[in-house]
Amino acid sequence: MTRHLLKNPDLFREAALIDGQWITETPHGHSELRNPATGEVLARLPRCKEEETTRAIVAADKAFRAWRQTTAKHRSQVLNRWWSLIVENKEDLATLITLEEGKPLSEARGEIDYAAGFVQWFAEESKRVRGDVIPAPRETQRIVTLKQPIGVCAAITPWNFPAAMITRKAGPALAAGCAMVVKPASQTPLTALALGELALRAGIPPGIFNVITGGDTRAIGGVLTSHPLVRKVTFTGSTEVGRVLLQQSASTIKKCSMELGGNAPCIVFDDADIDTAVEGILVAKFRNTGQSCIAANRVMVQAGIYDALAARLAERVGQLKVGNGLEPGVQIGPMIDAGAVSKVEEHVDNAVAGGARLLTGGRRHALGGCFYEPTVLADVAPGMAVAVQETFGPVMPLVRFERDEDAIAMANDTEFGLASYLFSKDAARIWRAAEALESGMVGINTGLISNELAPFGGIKQSGLGREGSHYGIDEFLELKYLCWDGLHPSFA
Ligand code: NAP
Repeated sequence: MTRHLLKNPDLFREAALIDGQWITETPHGHSELRNPATGEVLARLPRCKEEETTRAIVAADKAFRAWRQTTAKHRSQVLNRWWSLIVENKEDLATLITLEEGKPLSEARGEIDYAAGFVQWFAEESKRVRGDVIPAPRETQRIVTLKQPIGVCAAITPWNFPAAMITRKAGPALAAGCAMVVKPASQTPLTALALGELALRAGIPPGIFNVITGGDTRAIGGVLTSHPLVRKVTFTGSTEVGRVLLQQSASTIKKCSMELGGNAPCIVFDDADIDTAVEGILVAKFRNTGQSCIAANRVMVQAGIYDALAARLAERVGQLKVGNGLEPGVQIGPMIDAGAVSKVEEHVDNAVAGGARLLTGGRRHALGGCFYEPTVLADVAPGMAVAVQETFGPVMPLVRFERDEDAIAMANDTEFGLASYLFSKDAARIWRAAEALESGMVGINTGLISNELAPFGGIKQSGLGREGSHYGIDEFLELKYLCWDGLHPSFA
């Protein structure tokens, strides 16, 4: 069934990818994958456990030893072929994302553009990895630095961006000369496997890009974080799981990158351009049905424009079209699963019980299943669960503030520090606020901040390291220093 929805049915794989081989059976049986919009079974994936994960790591290490010897120019050409195959197969990849993750097809297409961007960018960056020559303390010495690929990288990725969260890691890793074992989220393996098929077609050697499937998450994660051949763990997901993976990686001292949860504040000052703010907030909040780590989780509005902005936002949110992401015109898809809907319901009920006002939405959607109404809540107090925890759903809490410094204090009053948003026309006010905000990224008069050119990442408990941009490849490189003596400066 799923196969027939694709122009290129070979992109639909019900198998793990280990050492260039499609593994359809393991001794551990299969797990079923369901479409969050319809509940239908999309695929049956072989369950991998310790043994299969170890096989993938050993294969990756073998492949790495040859791949690291290739020239940067060669890796760049191979990655560029991967990029062009991803772009050529955009429609099929987007369809797979919508089927397994639920986001509207137009957004899924946007995710493929975004995901492909990382492969193209790092294909270029591979040629720009440079060492250094440092002035030495003695005339007979030279100090030289080299940057070398770290080795086998384990990537553990979330379901909310099934393509981009993989290419944001695999692009720089492969460009640097590393090999990768990917454990995609159990809910979204099909996109990862299609990327694997395209990687093989592009000429990425067997063993360089492996994908492990099945729901035995702890068994797989346990091996990925403890096997001595894995030198790097790159994780995107919740802070809670990131903390566990960091602890597990400590025993073998692996280099770790952590892209974790957020609780993004969005501050709208009273001099903001209202149209710009409305558009920016809508995209920052409702993209991917609110299931984005940089989603505006708390919208703080200055008292002077609070009522006007709240009315405008409620009107627009009330018009958002909810439905199966494959249907034309749909703007809000299902949430990923029943647990996610319950969390949103709990946050909204708790806020209303505490005195917040529903301006629109506030219930499970009439479509049933995993659908929830796009919601705007006014008069939210900063301590309510909806403003303290990552709600990860289509709910916009509005918090009123009077003085600029109060907004900054509220914004920073969280253990998270991923993204923040500011809306104002006053450059000095923006600069002051942007410097004071404790987050790795600040969107100013925009709700769209992710692209392959910029360094993505958080501070505090939102993470370690950066992905994308010219900084992103350093996460997959080791710095080696050569102290070379006996170089007598005189020709005599
Ligand atoms: P999650 O529950 O932390 O899962 C993320 C990944 O970790 C999945 O592949 C999951 O596998 C795996 N995992 C869970 N427990 C594990 C364990 N004990 N050992 C090894 N792997 C384990 O997060 P999610 O619900 O998929 O994604 C939502 C979260 O990701 C949100 O907090 C969001 O903010 C964050 N996120 C952050 C960024 C960023 O760039 N900072 C981007 C996107 C999302 P299973 O699927 O098999 O459980």
